[in-house]
Amino acid sequence: MSERHPVSLRIGSYQFDDIPSLVRYYQSPEFERDYTYFGNDLGCTVKTNEAVFKLWSPAADEAEVLLYHAGSSAEGWNREKDTHLIEGDEKPYQSIPMNKGQRGVFEVTLSGDFHGIYYTYRIHIGDEWTESADPYAKAAGVNGRRSMAVDLKRTNPEGWERDSYRYTGEGTEAIIWEVHVRDFSYSESSGMKYRGKYLAFTEKGTVLQENGVSKPEYPTGVDYLQKLGITHVQFLPLMDYATVDESKPDMEQYNWGYDPLNYMVPEGSYSTDPFHGEVRIREMKQMIQALHKAGIGVVMDVVYNHTYFTEASWFHKVMPYYYHRTLPDGTIGNASGCGNETASERSMFRLYMLDSLRYLAEEYHVDGFRFDLMGIHDVDTMNEIRSMLDGLKGKNYLTYGEPWAALPVAIPPYKKHPLYAADKPHMDLLDPRVRVFDDVTRDLIKGDAFEKLRIGYANGAGFLEKELADAILGHPGWTSEGREEGKSQSVTYVSSHDNYTLWDKLTMTASSDGSGFDSPELIRLAVNKLCASIVLTSQGMSFMQAGEEFGRTKYGEGNSYNAESHINMLDWRRTVTFRELTDYYRGLIAIRRMSSCLTDESGKSARSIVFHQLTDQIIAYTIRGRKAFEPQMLVVIFNAGAEGAMVDLTSGLSASEAAELPDQWNVLAGETYAGVRKQYQVDGTRFYVYTRGVLIASSVRRVADELDSFRGRGGVK
Ligand code: CA
Repeated sequence: MSERHPVSLRIGSYQFDDIPSLVRYYQSPEFERDYTYFGNDLGCTVKTNEAVFKLWSPAADEAEVLLYHAGSSAEGWNREKDTHLIEGDEKPYQSIPMNKGQRGVFEVTLSGDFHGIYYTYRIHIGDEWTESADPYAKAAGVNGRRSMAVDLKRTNPEGWERDSYRYTGEGTEAIIWEVHVRDFSYSESSGMKYRGKYLAFTEKGTVLQENGVSKPEYPTGVDYLQKLGITHVQFLPLMDYATVDESKPDMEQYNWGYDPLNYMVPEGSYSTDPFHGEVRIREMKQMIQALHKAGIGVVMDVVYNHTYFTEASWFHKVMPYYYHRTLPDGTIGNASGCGNETASERSMFRLYMLDSLRYLAEEYHVDGFRFDLMGIHDVDTMNEIRSMLDGLKGKNYLTYGEPWAALPVAIPPYKKHPLYAADKPHMDLLDPRVRVFDDVTRDLIKGDAFEKLRIGYANGAGFLEKELADAILGHPGWTSEGREEGKSQSVTYVSSHDNYTLWDKLTMTASSDGSGFDSPELIRLAVNKLCASIVLTSQGMSFMQAGEEFGRTKYGEGNSYNAESHINMLDWRRTVTFRELTDYYRGLIAIRRMSSCLTDESGKSARSIVFHQLTDQIIAYTIRGRKAFEPQMLVVIFNAGAEGAMVDLTSGLSASEAAELPDQWNVLAGETYAGVRKQYQVDGTRFYVYTRGVLIASSVRRVADELDSFRGRGGVK
């Protein structure tokens, strides 16, 4: 029994005085049978003339709803003027007892219009009364410490019901651009009005501002993204987190947001008014609506793996030790490295994940989810999430996550039905459409993410060609389906919000004094293009950190989770300085989007890949075209060596194999240019590739094949 967390509470006819026996009861079939609540109406449901409050807490013997006019104790409320004052609203204006019903659910129905009323629960567990916000809150006051009753229909922006964006592409076709709401627009160079806010994503026609001068030839914001060609924006956590004081918008403070407080409430500091809980909801919807209008999907980064507070978390307050895992001695597990880990294997937390994800998908029209430290969740939960999303109509929701935890995971050893962590060792059990960040490829391409000076293939390390070939295939060997059919479950990337930016990593490994973060030096540019080319031609799903395409720098900072704004924000002036790099990324994205053999979810195209060279820092392969109207074949060559090289595709092939190769090629990507427009033509099978260079070419179609494909499709010429 833990000395630090004594417990004394009663559930039904059982009295518990130590944590391990309480937790054993939580994990028993008896508890599951008696107390699992399958209704999806926990929290506060506002209807036209009533509000229903429901709270799940089998451990409580009494509960009340406390009603407040203001969203925090620091705010007062002037009844006549309906405005907030700063004279304090510490006491509830009403407290209403709730009735305990079946399965430990407390309930009360109040008549009247409760939209905009703030509330908490007062709960009696053991010998103590405690006050808590609602873990199922859909809205909250400033800083999230009080929940708010919300009529969601009243939060919809104009035209929301016509928001009809549907991502129907294959998962592997997605090209994800990962950004933090504030980073996107906070720099004055963004030329945006709503700097740091959700609404910056609704601004159209924004252009670069440099020394007070507008540069119309350099669009910023969503216009820029449309031009870049990515398919999805993935946001760092959008849901309410604990560590930025929302009541002080002008104070210099920053956080990535991996400190979750309210899982179904948007973060308040990105809204124009965090004091009125409905504003942030409307503005986040406006942001998503605007991205959808631009043809861009939205992926949310969800942080279910831990709670920022432990004993003070709403979960723990309403149901002690239920939602977090504990070790055998009763201490709370810490797989997140942030003080605790949640227990996805317990029915009510698994249902919480499922219900809240469904809510975010349906209410906010979100197009996918990225699971932070997914290795803390169990495989069964992740697979249930995948099938729940597949049950929602008409859209291909993206699901992917980090297949690891920060520290060892405390999933309890169930004998009858063993549970496994959703991490890399258990990918065979994971639904193939729950994709995983491929850290192996990330480190192979540009060197270890944590060891500053360690290099990878692109920045000069030798003898990695064969390992990289497997990475290019998207590590199909990580799953049984992959081994059999060549399918990839990887998210291929070289940089994300974690660790060094790609440009910083390349800069630090290239120069001993670490200088040059701001200068687009030629060799480093070439290496950067090489990294991007490997990612964007690989068989996994492509992912990049926002600004990777314009040499984003944090000046060597490896963990900027709470660093000052100028370290984290996107500096749009770099779209000028690094114009050539940005153009190259845009071209690679265009090549990927028009080459369905690079994004073939079935694995068939991957099986058609032939590696022609995997030595001397050169990787050369051909891949068969997938669709009749596309080129028959692509050739992709990377040369990470310090010298230019002539690569002959026929070397090592028999005469008959060599005869099958196309002998006319359109070069699409080379030293300075990448794009779907032909740069020059190569006759034969020999290609010159510059030092640290890339070459992508498509075969020029032969007339006979064109006729064949017409016949194949039943067409008449
Ligand atoms: Ca917050």
